[in-house]
Amino acid sequence: MSDDPLVRVDDLHKRYGDEEVLKGISFEMDRQDVQVLVGPSGSGKSTLLRCVNRLTEFQGGEITLDGTPVTEMDVDDLRRQVGMVFQDFNLFAHLTAKENIMLGPRRVLGKTEEEAAERALDELDRVGLAAQADSYPAELSGGQKQRVGIARALAMDPKLMLFDEPTSALDPELIGEVVEVMEDLAEGGMTMLVVTHEMGFARAAATDIMFLDQGRIVEHGPPERLFENPEHERTAQFLERLT
Ligand code: ADP
Ligand code: MG
Repeated sequence: MSDDPLVRVDDLHKRYGDEEVLKGISFEMDRQDVQVLVGPSGSGKSTLLRCVNRLTEFQGGEITLDGTPVTEMDVDDLRRQVGMVFQDFNLFAHLTAKENIMLGPRRVLGKTEEEAAERALDELDRVGLAAQADSYPAELSGGQKQRVGIARALAMDPKLMLFDEPTSALDPELIGEVVEVMEDLAEGGMTMLVVTHEMGFARAAATDIMFLDQGRIVEHGPPERLFENPEHERTAQFLERLT
């Protein structure tokens, strides 16, 4: 394994038309780091995540994964290595939980039906949903759907997992079960870049919290420091409102 950071973002600039939404973002993530990203709506959090797996292109700077610029990677290969979990689950309604998870390993990794099914059941078990393998999304709660979303990403053996507000669409009583799965993942050594307002998760699992405002990193640091002793008033105010 190389000594390179797993992820290096260097002076990233991103525009939508004339609007510059990322104005020079730089940070690194080592293997097993859990980087939490917070900031007001419109600050560029989703855009940053989407640049990492090239769901959107960027105009300046560089992002490397395991030492290779993402812009030089085959996009399919990049997305195989970088799993993403969305706010609104993005499950196929006509497929069961198990079938949703099997899709990637079947189509992208070329696994056999049997291999993919076995892996799907393992991943469902890992997120506590072994009993729901044959349920359709409409039969699942929001928290269960999101756990299927996580299991689906994990079935691809990603090097890195991106989470974009994975609990924001959930009723409050369903947030805990998803956070618990994410904490287990973090503890198991998964490298994670997580946009979330769940400060319980950040305190428990983050190696670093980054506060983004208007396309710039205002400050970042380990949770203990950022919560107890933020350097910037803006960070203090923002975190106070979340906790
Ligand atoms: P956040 O996730 O922090 O709420 P976003 O990354 O979604 O912020 O958005 C950052 C800025 O980029 C916002 O001003 C938003 O309006 C703009 N933006 C996001 N997506 C698009 C798009 N597809 N086209 C044009 N502007 C966009
Ligand atoms: Mg967003």
